[in-house]
Amino acid sequence: MGKYSKGSSGGDSSRRRRTFTHQSQYGFISGRSAVSALLKYKETIEETTDKYAATIFIDISGAFDNVWWPAVIRSLRQKGVPGYLLATLKSYLTDRTVTYRDGSVEVSKACTKGCPQGSVLGPTLWNSVLDMYLDSELLPNTETIAYADDIAIVVRARIRQELRDHIRESVERVMEWALRQKLTISGTKTKIMINKSPPRVHHRDIRVRLGDSKVGIVSEMKYLGVIVDRKLNFHTHVRAVCERARKIVLALRMKVHVTWDVPVGRSLHAIYKCGILPIVAYASEVWAHRLRVSRVRRMLLSLGGAVGRMICGGYNSVSNEAAGVLSGIPPLDLTMAETNCVKMLRRTETAAYLDMMVHRKEFESLRHLREYLHIMTLDRWQSRWDDSRGAPVTHSFFPNVPEAPRTEFTRLSTQVLSGHGPFVTHLHRIGKSDTGDCPTCGTLDDPIHRILECSTFDAERDELQVALGGIPDLERIPHIPLELLHGFAREP
Ligand SMILES: [Zn+2]
Repeated sequence: MGKYSKGSSGGDSSRRRRTFTHQSQYGFISGRSAVSALLKYKETIEETTDKYAATIFIDISGAFDNVWWPAVIRSLRQKGVPGYLLATLKSYLTDRTVTYRDGSVEVSKACTKGCPQGSVLGPTLWNSVLDMYLDSELLPNTETIAYADDIAIVVRARIRQELRDHIRESVERVMEWALRQKLTISGTKTKIMINKSPPRVHHRDIRVRLGDSKVGIVSEMKYLGVIVDRKLNFHTHVRAVCERARKIVLALRMKVHVTWDVPVGRSLHAIYKCGILPIVAYASEVWAHRLRVSRVRRMLLSLGGAVGRMICGGYNSVSNEAAGVLSGIPPLDLTMAETNCVKMLRRTETAAYLDMMVHRKEFESLRHLREYLHIMTLDRWQSRWDDSRGAPVTHSFFPNVPEAPRTEFTRLSTQVLSGHGPFVTHLHRIGKSDTGDCPTCGTLDDPIHRILECSTFDAERDELQVALGGIPDLERIPHIPLELLHGFAREP
């Protein structure tokens, strides 16, 4: 069914379809999305007051390709679709053939199932069949969330016996429905997850069979593009997303490395914004409340650091904080909080930016809101930067975090601005020198020493003073032609 865009086609029919389709169905419906299904799922689990909660993730084998047409017609008739429309639909579905052509050979076969691929109507037909299940009487204390062919059934119970029985019965009911529609439920891909249960209670006796296979109990499950874990703490999800983004960054880094002296800063920023951020931000509405957890934050900061180092061309030893300041990209957890707050305010009146609540009505426009949130990000970034003890060299050049992405870089100027290069202090830090002192002056040899006082670099300093019109002001140095810094990154 991958050929369909799972979003709604919208348009004139959306208003009618909304009432036509079951409230538990989130796929192909205007105003609903995978994210709303995920939010509903999370809310259902989190708000349960029962002692036990579990999820059954149902996998229908090739759902779309196997929809049986008589089932479609029957479901539509039950919904009260008028006869003349059914007749039209019947003729649309009748005498369909699949033709395969290879050179002069042609094979045709009559086709009796499957939603017509790529059609406007297909998703509606599927939803209609699924509604037969959703409309049927469900067990008490269960909630079904359907998004296209992804079905999650949340079962709640006060006692363990009840949980076990309800899980078993829910699976049986889906099986019955599937059997009537001539659909198959995959026993190996369908999974059960115990979300809530008192400590030290085992669930070994929850044995559910589907056909020949036993349904597995899992602690993590990919559901609608998000790795859901039983406690809904989303650590695994964030880790997986960061790993995926990091692989892309590393692949790019190899390519960039070859042609580094070409100013590619601008295009790397674009890749970060349009390629990396959307991967990380997917369904952030569901997990962004975890941004304040240090483990989640660390994973994001580490990815942000890798991107920052790639953008500014710094060594791997440059810290995440310094890489962010050098490249002009704010800490990734703050960017995520910002992005997510805007997304949430499209759904609700109030949304969180980390520990702060933001009210939609206080802003006259989306632009106004975005500007405000960005200022919040810069603010928090600045106070983190003020508090950070590492990267003294970068601090000297950038006491204030950059308000916009930096786009011009050279490899040698980044060495000077980060202090990670052929400086004796750096060589000492990475264990390549016994001392950190300048061979001429006997004091610590870092870029600041070379720019301000070292006699070995008098010639470079003279040039710099001409460009700056006086004694080198460290804060102005990142804004002069960067080539003027290259001499300071030579071997002493
Ligand atoms: Zn010196």
